[in-house]
Amino acid sequence: MTVITRFAPSPTWYLHIWSLRTVLYNYLFAKKNNGKFMLRIEDTDRTRLVEWSVENMLKVLASVWLIPDEWPNNPWDKWPYYQSERLSIYRKYLDQLIENDKAYYCFCSSERLTELREEQTSLWLPTKYDKKCRYLSKEEIKEKLDSWASYTVRLKVPDNTIIEFEDMVKWKIKVPSKDIDEQILLKSDGFPTYHLANVVDDHLMWVTHVIRWDEWTPSTPKHVIMYNSFWWEAPIFAHIPLLLWSDKKKLSKRTWDVAVEKYIEKGYLSEAIINYIALLGWNPKTTEEFFTMNELIERFDLNHVHKSWAVFDVERLDFFNSHYLKTSDLDYLYNKLMTYLSRYDVDFYNLINTFSDEYNKKIFFELKSRIKHFSEYKWYTNFFYSDSKIPSNELMLNEKMKITDITIVKKALEITLRLLKSKWEDFDTILDIKNAFIKEIKDAEMKNGQVLWPVRCVLSWEQFSPGWLEMVYILWNQKSIERIEKVLKNI
Ligand code: GLU
Repeated sequence: MTVITRFAPSPTWYLHIWSLRTVLYNYLFAKKNNGKFMLRIEDTDRTRLVEWSVENMLKVLASVWLIPDEWPNNPWDKWPYYQSERLSIYRKYLDQLIENDKAYYCFCSSERLTELREEQTSLWLPTKYDKKCRYLSKEEIKEKLDSWASYTVRLKVPDNTIIEFEDMVKWKIKVPSKDIDEQILLKSDGFPTYHLANVVDDHLMWVTHVIRWDEWTPSTPKHVIMYNSFWWEAPIFAHIPLLLWSDKKKLSKRTWDVAVEKYIEKGYLSEAIINYIALLGWNPKTTEEFFTMNELIERFDLNHVHKSWAVFDVERLDFFNSHYLKTSDLDYLYNKLMTYLSRYDVDFYNLINTFSDEYNKKIFFELKSRIKHFSEYKWYTNFFYSDSKIPSNELMLNEKMKITDITIVKKALEITLRLLKSKWEDFDTILDIKNAFIKEIKDAEMKNGQVLWPVRCVLSWEQFSPGWLEMVYILWNQKSIERIEKVLKNI
């Protein structure tokens, strides 16, 4: 038996973080078992559709390397993957259920159903359909159908039994049938509900494992009843617990913070996103934290998915991203950065491209460990790409560093200039520069800060910037000298 998993989103927004986790677990499980992972679009609720959602989802999934084996509108489509294109199939199977007395027509008006719900709520009863139409005679049904009465079709829940199923994450689930609502399978607009279309498709598409988030656990007994009613074997279920925000609140559905796109736009690396998301609720049973996609595939085990909720914490994502920024190959990262900038900050990208790759890479190498993600890069590095500016006196004077008047600044810059002009040839590494400065400062009987602070201000003219050493090292001799001379002229 080939393992087949699927992600079956309703295209109503951007891809959520928790959906990404669902996709990832489906993907890892399928790949681990040499199976297939499919994307199916559940678009039968026509009121909630968002036109760009599917395309956006495919783009986001591709950017984190989660490419399904089957997806809608690919050149080798096996069947329609949009449920809206499969309506006749659902109707056929629905008729089968009606014929076999496993589903029935319901002619109750929405006013009646609202009243019923209100009454049940006021009595603190669970809200459920009262089965009024379940017992209509054949003649009554025919008469209503002949008179074009509006109808829905409901699932017939067997009486006095226990519906049970195994869940790979939560173990056995048992629900008395009396607690299960007689779910609408066909709506009055002729569209199937999620429940019918989902079960029919999972069966027809040979899905072996349904891995989805916990919110669907209460629906699964209804699905199990449907599988039984069709005499089909049910797939194996695995319901993944909720994700909470770091303040332990449920992630709200439509804030930008929960859209995967946000993190791609910020320039998090795909490996960091995947690595972090994989560990949100799954225990790899080792103290090891960093895994490549292949390692995740190798280790993934649904039995080690936690039974309780997990917390999405952006600081942890930052931690993983920093790790990959520090440890991945420089050329690889640099290419990623350039691709990112070409997409999200074209002006800065064009500016950088007027400088040599060698210069750019040097900057990137020195500063990549300071950024949390690529979107911070410009802020940390624009000093290397723009014309120098004269820093304000307030910035250069610094009480704490004992730079109390401008003559100290002047002296500091003169020392630096002399050093850069005379000793530059001796510098090979960043450490050589550091040692030479420290020695020179000592000889001049000044404090380190008294020299290094003004140097940093002159080279980068902002309160927050990279350190003096990185600035000197990257700007190298000529540019550093130019910037210092320009300021000295002004003092
Ligand atoms: N269309 C459902 C959703 O968007 C799919 C649930 C399932 O995987 O069965 O959540």
